[in-house]
Amino acid sequence: KFDVSDTLKRLPEQFFANLVKKVQTLVVEGHDVINLGQGNPDLPTPKFIVKALQEASKNPKFHKYPPFQGYSFLKEAVAEFYLREYGVNLDPNKEVAILFGAKTGLVEISQCLLNPGDRVLVPDPGYPDYMSGIAIANAQAVYMPLLKENDFLPDYGLMDKEDLDRAKLMFLNYPNNPTAATATLEFFEETVTVAKEHHICVVHDFAYGAIGFEDRKPPSFLQAEGAKDIGVEMYTLSKTFNMAGWRIGFAVGNASVIESIERMQDHFYVSIFGAIQYAAKEALLHGEKAMQTNNQVYEGRRATFLKAAAQIGWHGGVAKGSFFVWMPVAEGYTSEQFSELLLEKAHVVTAPGIGFGQAGEGFVRIGLLDKEERLVAAVARIGQLNLF
Ligand code: PLP
Repeated sequence: KFDVSDTLKRLPEQFFANLVKKVQTLVVEGHDVINLGQGNPDLPTPKFIVKALQEASKNPKFHKYPPFQGYSFLKEAVAEFYLREYGVNLDPNKEVAILFGAKTGLVEISQCLLNPGDRVLVPDPGYPDYMSGIAIANAQAVYMPLLKENDFLPDYGLMDKEDLDRAKLMFLNYPNNPTAATATLEFFEETVTVAKEHHICVVHDFAYGAIGFEDRKPPSFLQAEGAKDIGVEMYTLSKTFNMAGWRIGFAVGNASVIESIERMQDHFYVSIFGAIQYAAKEALLHGEKAMQTNNQVYEGRRATFLKAAAQIGWHGGVAKGSFFVWMPVAEGYTSEQFSELLLEKAHVVTAPGIGFGQAGEGFVRIGLLDKEERLVAAVARIGQLNLF
């Protein structure tokens, strides 16, 4: 057995590994477990995208190494997609990088821009992968609490000026995982002002960009005036087109940051299978209808879940965007205790808020990732515990 590197030792443990094990045990024991704990879309990839992959995979051109930095046809499609969806102009040659899902970009950005000891502003609660990149770079996280009273947005006015001055990078994520909050364009404009004043690079994780409710389309960070001067946005096809298994996404925005991502990627990978890039291009160019259908499915599930929750007296959920609902725990329980109780007594899997950071305490994250009747059944089982 070999000793592992200090880098690997620094990497945080996967908080949810334990939960996954418990769920597996219950399933093996034959229990009907309703899993609303993970972020894996249950719906299939739209057929026209799968067909595009099937056709493209027959093309011998795609059997060779792809261009290191991805095919230009995909970068051009990304630019068209951003123009169509957000009215944002992008130079496909300089302002778009192709990624193996958003995750690689979100982890690599820290290696691209940070030196050991550098400070990074990280949302709390937040998606755990930001911390992975920060740990690999041996940089230091400074948490920005996302509190209900500020609509789960960081309050720059309350932050320590020294923290802002010393920070090199800031992660943001709206629609937000786990709080299901969305941001306004005004908030992004304020962010640009703060980032310019303190010379911070902003990385906006827009993984749930295509999922917003009540006719409110979540804004892109790049719609804020001057955003490209100070930041990038990470996008993925995983949620927008139910393509989590395909591993494809992209980064858009500041040309110097995009260049650094491509340079770093050169050392790790040759780009993604060309036929997948081709199918991704088709999705971006012709997937408007599929995006609407997807959003409607989540909108229906959200309404059904919130109605059922209200009927058992479970109130106070947040669900403005993303396919999550951020629900308060019952009185007298920590999020971990509450989540365990739901798992053991109702066989319903939820993700405890503490797993996303200290400020996540008091909540559980529910994924709207099963049919409406299963969501109703999950709430009914929880209702039988008489917790509310
Ligand atoms: N960012 C957030 C907030 C996520 O929840 C996820 C996936 O769960 C990702 C990024 C990763 O997306 P991808 O599948 O593109 O790596």
